Amino acid sequence: MQKEIADIVIIGAGAAGLMAGASAAETVSAKSGGASVRPKVIILEKMPRPGRKIIITGKGRCNMTNLKDWQDFSTHVHPKANFLKNAFYNFTPYDTMEFFSRNGLETVAERGDRVFPAEGNSKDVVDALVKAAENAGAQILTGKEVSGIDVNGDGRFTVETAEGDTFVCSALVITTGGLSYPATGSTGDGLKWASAMGLRTVPCFPSLTALVPKGYKREEISGKGSGMKGHVDRCTPLSDTGSLLNGNRLKNVSLKISIDGTEVMDEFGDLDFTDGGLEGPLGFKASRRCVKALLNGSKVRAAIDMKPAVPLSELDTRIMSLWNGINEEAKNRNKSRDERMRILLSRLLPSDLIRGFLKYCPANDVKKVGKALKNWEMDICGYVGYERCVITAGGVSTDEISPKTMEAKAVPGLYIAGELLDIDGDTGGYNLQCAFSTGRLAGQSAAEKILNLR
Ligand SMILES: Cc1cc2nc3c(=O)[nH]c(=O)nc-3n(C[C@H](O)[C@H](O)[C@H](O)COP(=O)(O)OP(=O)(O)OC[C@H]3O[C@@H](n4cnc5c(N)ncnc54)[C@H](O)[C@@H]3O)c2cc1C
Repeated sequence: MQKEIADIVIIGAGAAGLMAGASAAETVSAKSGGASVRPKVIILEKMPRPGRKIIITGKGRCNMTNLKDWQDFSTHVHPKANFLKNAFYNFTPYDTMEFFSRNGLETVAERGDRVFPAEGNSKDVVDALVKAAENAGAQILTGKEVSGIDVNGDGRFTVETAEGDTFVCSALVITTGGLSYPATGSTGDGLKWASAMGLRTVPCFPSLTALVPKGYKREEISGKGSGMKGHVDRCTPLSDTGSLLNGNRLKNVSLKISIDGTEVMDEFGDLDFTDGGLEGPLGFKASRRCVKALLNGSKVRAAIDMKPAVPLSELDTRIMSLWNGINEEAKNRNKSRDERMRILLSRLLPSDLIRGFLKYCPANDVKKVGKALKNWEMDICGYVGYERCVITAGGVSTDEISPKTMEAKAVPGLYIAGELLDIDGDTGGYNLQCAFSTGRLAGQSAAEKILNLR
């Protein structure tokens, strides 16, 4: 149990919080010259170790940023990318690489401008962030779960922990993240405090998550436990159809999404059938729109084109020619029509996919196979929730925050950064860069504020 007066307290030692801590402490030490007493920076983290979520990013490799320029980068940030512009230019993806290099971690850029630690180990990212924060003079206290915040009459903040500690500070940075993967410590605590301090929050929903086609899971439990319309818990068992499709990875297909009959997306790429539903780059890309639509009670339909490079008429001709050949070969071998149909499909689809495909598109008419391949339709009835989504959309409204400093407009001395804000990015390193850029600016601004108060 401790009672401490600090200058800057940061709540949450994730990507944004560690960056905020390092940046606040760096700014303090750069600007306090030879002063014997420097402003104190404390990071409070409820988990036993910092950066738990970073460890699981990028399948353990951590896609830490993306080198696209702002013009391109901003198209991958939602819903109001412009809010991020100042923070982005203050700390660009190249600055992120340089920051990590300065702290002993070399990085490599791969396909799609995505940047990873050179050794491909996300733990190195956490170690470098912790090193940066501690070397600059910030103190990281783990096992400290903040349970309450008060704004005092003198403009300072009192921060209390479940363990019985009290911290009083002049600048408070909240970087407690969103609601996804709560086991990493991100349980939405900051949302409650922000609301209690009068900041508007935009309703949250899971994004970059699996979409569940109708008939894919054994029971489609709408909102079981979470109260969210369309939520299908990840561990809901697969149906026979789901089991047949699970594990198939579709390369170079296109995915069309329509909402209440209007086409809203038509993208080319890779799509995975997993134990959650539709995932992979295309599934994730569609998820933000689809989850939002399902929550609003709209009808969502997906259509996969397995042969996007071939026009239907050409595909039909090819199929008829294959079919004639198969019939010719089978002439004296007494093969049933079903067997011949299966041979036909095995020449058009990966063999593991055929039985699952047939569940959705019973192909008993050879003339309809081409159309089924080009328009494999399925209703989307749900989505996997916070238990396994990559990002939380929604959060503290960016209208409440100054984009130049990350300070709350209505609460001087309060700064908010990272996933807690109503900003979410696509897959590809955008989310961590958002956390680094906003965390950096929040930490620097909090330090400037403290130094100006002195
Ligand atoms: C499986 C997965 C893979 C991902 N892969 C990538 C990727 O490769 N690239 C990418 O750019 N993004 C990726 N992301 C997204 C990215 O990890 C997050 O957007 C980013 O980590 C958010 O950082 P943050 O600091 O805002 O929040 P968090 O990382 O969630 O950190 C918040 C911290 O606050 C702490 N905290 C919460 N409440 C309290 C409290 N009451 N008291 C004290 N501490 C508290 C938490 O324990 C946590 O440590 C991935 C996410 C997931 C779930």
